[in-house]
Amino acid sequence: MSNQKLNNLKELLKKLKQDKGRCFIDSCGRKSIGSHTISKSRILEKLQENDEKLGVILLHLEDKTNVDFKHRTLSTYQNSERRLIKKGKSSASVFYGFCVKHDANLFQELDNETYSNTDKINFLHAYRGFALYVTKSNDQFSFLQNKILENSIRVENPRTEDLNQGLEKVSHVMDQIDDNLQMQAQKTTSWIDKIRVLIQKDIVVDETELRKSINRQLSQLNEDILFPIPGYVFKKKIKKIIDAAYLKIGVPEKRIPELENIVNHRIKENRRIKSIFNSAVLKKNYNVIDYVSRPIDGIYNITGNFVFCNSRKELFSLTFFPEFETKKTQVIIASLEDRQETLNQLKTIDVLEYKKLLSSIIIHQGTNVFMSPSFFDQLDEEIQKEMVSEKSTSNLRILNIFK
Ligand SMILES: [Zn+2]
Repeated sequence: MSNQKLNNLKELLKKLKQDKGRCFIDSCGRKSIGSHTISKSRILEKLQENDEKLGVILLHLEDKTNVDFKHRTLSTYQNSERRLIKKGKSSASVFYGFCVKHDANLFQELDNETYSNTDKINFLHAYRGFALYVTKSNDQFSFLQNKILENSIRVENPRTEDLNQGLEKVSHVMDQIDDNLQMQAQKTTSWIDKIRVLIQKDIVVDETELRKSINRQLSQLNEDILFPIPGYVFKKKIKKIIDAAYLKIGVPEKRIPELENIVNHRIKENRRIKSIFNSAVLKKNYNVIDYVSRPIDGIYNITGNFVFCNSRKELFSLTFFPEFETKKTQVIIASLEDRQETLNQLKTIDVLEYKKLLSSIIIHQGTNVFMSPSFFDQLDEEIQKEMVSEKSTSNLRILNIFK
């Protein structure tokens, strides 16, 4: 491992740490507080339902921070770590973006009043979506530093082969699980136990730390799963844990410059987004974004606020939420670039096409998305599967969650 390259990357990441935990508005400098990207009282609270085991909850579609070497992305906005979890409203949609003063000053209209279709309100929805997107980068950079770089020094480990053999045995065990088997909690526990025994017996490298880490991840596994879980999804989850163990052996040298490029690109993009939004909000110059606001008739118990990219890799924010007073589901799509043409098409396409397009974005790239458990239950099975799957299928455009 070339220490110089590794050190460069480490230095770069260290600099970024200075930004972490500070208000999104650079000139402010105060500590950021945990705040909601979606109104707790007007929206999240109303999507909650009783769960026998967990009390009052809603379902949260989120992506976990990871580094995707294959697609060379730092973010997981590519669906690489999607999961559906149950949460109470108080921790739902929280991010550390703004300080106590700016959070209250900027967003109180969004959080407490009925939606109005004005430049200012639409700007603020997009602002919050992009602020979440940029803030998440910092978590990703920390993750990269703590979980990957710290372990990369172990690349010369002479006992790597032993680890490989142990992990291979684990994959053999997984081959015995049928893809279409519908697994209940008990069933997965017995498989996890089997895998754990193998790890105990056969993985000799780094006995304490690596084993502990795999075991810890295995124990957490069942907490994240909604049962029954199909065999193929369960296997995927196990595979991810195993892959992470491989990763611990070290980052291949040739990946370091790649990672540096990814990080640099993301930093540049984030700075640009920040400076455009922040200067606009300070000057109250709300027309710097292009947007379309087109509601859907009826209440759908699903909400979200996130940034997605289209096939041309252009970034847009999507905000959508049920508005109970007007019996409409408000939808705002915005861009920092001049995308008036693309956005105008959204104003005029057929309503069914519009719903399918939104569904496809939510199913494919949705994160920071919340829904009531009963809304999820009534979705087509295909959509439910697609929401937590890693690879999108080609017929995605025909799926519609707004029926
Ligand atoms: Zn502030």
